[in-house]
Amino acid sequence: MSPAPDQQHDPDCELCQADRFTHWYHEDEICWVADCEACGVPMVVWRHHGTEPPDADVEHALSVLNGIAEQRFGDAFSIDRQMRQVPDHFHAHARDTDWWSKRMTRPLSRYTGVGGDRETIG
Ligand SMILES: [Zn+2]
Ligand SMILES: [Zn+2]
Repeated sequence: MSPAPDQQHDPDCELCQADRFTHWYHEDEICWVADCEACGVPMVVWRHHGTEPPDADVEHALSVLNGIAEQRFGDAFSIDRQMRQVPDHFHAHARDTDWWSKRMTRPLSRYTGVGGDRETIG
């Protein structure tokens, strides 16, 4: 048996730490959505440490991410569930079509509270 989801927390995991540097679009009991510092695109992160959230949590997280990505990118984005940087904690990116070429020049957003206007640095 795996531990109950609310006991899954890894103090060394950067997604568990959930540092608030970039813009946060949303948070609730299941997930939070913020700009990925590396990619500059919205990323949804499960509240609990682990790779296999219950289906309902995955569905919720991805639909929240979809709504946010639509507001920012229109329909020119795709959901990327590959977990490259942190392979042991469920998260997904909403990547717009040009994210790869834009990622070095895109100004970083900054944290101004959850769900407010997205502000960038510089
Ligand atoms: Zn990223
Ligand atoms: Zn974690």
